[in-house]
Amino acid sequence: MKKIRAAVLGYGGMGFYHPDCIDEIDMLEVAGVYDIRQSRMDIAREKGIYTYSSLEEMLADPTLELITVATPNHTHKDLCIQCMRAGKNVICEKPVALNVQELEEMIAVSKECGVVFTVHQNRRWDRDFNIMKKIFDDNTLGRVFRIESRVHGSRGVPGDWRNRKECGGGMMMDWGIHMLDQMFKMMGDRKVKSIYARMTNITNEECDDGFKVIVEFEDDIEFHLEVGTSNFVNLPRWYMLGENGTAVMNNWTEGKIVMVSDWENRDAVPVQASAGWTKTMAPRTNDTIQEYPLPEVNVTLRDFYHNVALVIKGEATTLLVTHEQMLRDMRFMEACFRSAAENRVITDFE
Ligand code: NAD
Repeated sequence: MKKIRAAVLGYGGMGFYHPDCIDEIDMLEVAGVYDIRQSRMDIAREKGIYTYSSLEEMLADPTLELITVATPNHTHKDLCIQCMRAGKNVICEKPVALNVQELEEMIAVSKECGVVFTVHQNRRWDRDFNIMKKIFDDNTLGRVFRIESRVHGSRGVPGDWRNRKECGGGMMMDWGIHMLDQMFKMMGDRKVKSIYARMTNITNEECDDGFKVIVEFEDDIEFHLEVGTSNFVNLPRWYMLGENGTAVMNNWTEGKIVMVSDWENRDAVPVQASAGWTKTMAPRTNDTIQEYPLPEVNVTLRDFYHNVALVIKGEATTLLVTHEQMLRDMRFMEACFRSAAENRVITDFE
């Protein structure tokens, strides 16, 4: 079987990782990389990877069928369009563009050129996300009424292009896009009823260094998305509340499920809450709750590149990350920025 030759444009922090992902797929092989920084090209060469001398050389390579664009966010649109106009299939890093308008232009070019175009939403394959999704899908907790997804750091926004607005910096563009994409994957066909977003600018004036978004979905499910970069004590990565139980993941790997085993038995030993005593907020006694481990999941990120290769070969018709999903994610991100700027609840998302 003739392999699909794939190259990486932008060999920085993330570009460095893509040749390994390509190597893992039988249908693909690494053709080479190109980066405008000589130091990055030297690193690629040391690893035995072919380095194109320019973008033009890369685009003129007739054996090349797929390019992964892993450059800073503000360069995605122009570079992806250049690649597609040269007849190459394109995987773009997230966020695929800076706004809906840019993305619409990119999708139009992909259709005009008849090439595959998708975005590397790799966190759909994260283990922590898939554990929580399984708990939700299996209805483990009974009717779920709130899901909180958050990541906390304590180093502000990284000091490169990520803290500059014109480069598509900020945490909504960086982590938000992953988390909202996961949210939509978990919520399936449920429609968004309202969105309220607040951004923070603790360490960075130019673009957000964190945010909190409250999203109301059909079926009375409230989804909270939160990123913080001035958090010296982290709250749990995931917190899911159902009528019969709670699931928590304290970090990317560990957590538990606590289910009520005897709802009617509500008696409790009161606890002191500062000045007074409370039964309402006292923990349940052990005989009325049961603790369970998190479920096992079997996911692999290889599915992403494998699917792109199948679609290029014509052996699959549907991308795993579709244009509709890309547009929905970008529209949602814009709605969050609008909600925060105008300090209002958005009710006309769909
Ligand atoms: P980075 O700054 O470490 O690397 C970007 C590289 O692109 C640099 O080496 C730079 O020299 C090169 N570059 C810039 N303009 C170029 C051009 N015109 N032609 C060729 N090379 C060019 O940034 P990064 O952290 O690697 O992020 C790159 C992209 O990957 C961003 O869009 C980011 O959001 C995304 N990313 C995705 C994930 C993920 O989990 N999917 C994780 C990190 C970064």
